[in-house]
Amino acid sequence: MMLTAYKYRMYPDDVQREMFLKHFGACRFVYNWSLEQKIKTYETDNVSLSCYDLNAMLPDLKKEFEWLKEVNAQSLQQTQKRLDSAFRRFFREKYGFPKFKSKKNPIQSFQVPQNYIVDFDTNQVRLPKTGWVKTIIHRRFAGILKTATVSMTKTGKFFISVLVEDGKETPRKELFGYDTTIGLDVGIKDFVTMSDGTKIDNPKFLRSSIKRIEVLQRRFSKTKKGSKNRDKARRKVALQYEKVANQRKDFLHKTSSRIVSNNQAIAIETLNVQGMMQNHGLAQAIGDVSWSEFFRQLKYKSERYGKTLLKIGQFEPSSKTCSVCGSIKRDLKLSDREWSCTECGTCHDRDVNASINIKKFALQAQNLIGVIAPRDTGGEPVGDVIDG
Ligand SMILES: [Zn+2]
Repeated sequence: MMLTAYKYRMYPDDVQREMFLKHFGACRFVYNWSLEQKIKTYETDNVSLSCYDLNAMLPDLKKEFEWLKEVNAQSLQQTQKRLDSAFRRFFREKYGFPKFKSKKNPIQSFQVPQNYIVDFDTNQVRLPKTGWVKTIIHRRFAGILKTATVSMTKTGKFFISVLVEDGKETPRKELFGYDTTIGLDVGIKDFVTMSDGTKIDNPKFLRSSIKRIEVLQRRFSKTKKGSKNRDKARRKVALQYEKVANQRKDFLHKTSSRIVSNNQAIAIETLNVQGMMQNHGLAQAIGDVSWSEFFRQLKYKSERYGKTLLKIGQFEPSSKTCSVCGSIKRDLKLSDREWSCTECGTCHDRDVNASINIKKFALQAQNLIGVIAPRDTGGEPVGDVIDG
């Protein structure tokens, strides 16, 4: 079944705002308290507390800290559930050990697992303990409501993200072949270069918005500590960051949607963001281009529309291999944007050549593992592949 998240801006009144802040605080408190219990009992008794154990401890905790009763009990239970899955991720995927939550985290949030209502007609959402909150519901949905998450950004804006199960099955993957697969090479100079020769650059407005951050940051650093002007300047920086984040998101969504709808399969290379940063010394450009978010969008959009995302490993020398004859140019430098193959004489644009190779390697890899049919398919389907 497919799950889709719908995110809307919320406009709580003063009383509701207070209630939201109470929820953020109480959930953070319960999360940290539960994490502490888990660590303690493990250290002293070598026992791992389950989510059920922790839930059972909540009533006593509420007797000790009366103010916890003011918030939705299910949100508190949900926060323990989240802690539990953080631990499971840690053990299963060796993903970082769960951290204590801080009041200073840029995003504060709490979850509402059930018993809330979304009213499209009046643009309101009804939440337990808080009541009807004005919400701009710019998009309707149909399906079963799963967990909702209320969050607050650093600039004090509120959002609700509603997870909806639409009852539809994930579509069957469409067949793909050489002609219906596109290879993508992402980089700093152009955001993405495609195997058909198309290049998409970061939009200019995004670049100028980023420059504006630098200006505002400089102004901020010149203000006096503790002054009102400093607060004002800090807020301006935060707002500009938010603007850049929104512009970037918009650009990434447009680009990923276009690529997914125009192709049956998309081939990409596993990212090495750290390597890219070192090579270019452009740490800031990372914020600008955000490839990992782009790949995340490609992945879920491919799943949603029955397309296939093929990934190849980094070991493949995609830039240095001639996509026509296969010979490798070992002395190719990062600064070489164009080069000619000494074997076959073909003139290459560095990034287009790389993206063609990414496509070829990805399709070849399918053949190599023996799941898929004929080698030289000339546009014929090569099979149904599950993204790995
Ligand atoms: Zn060649």
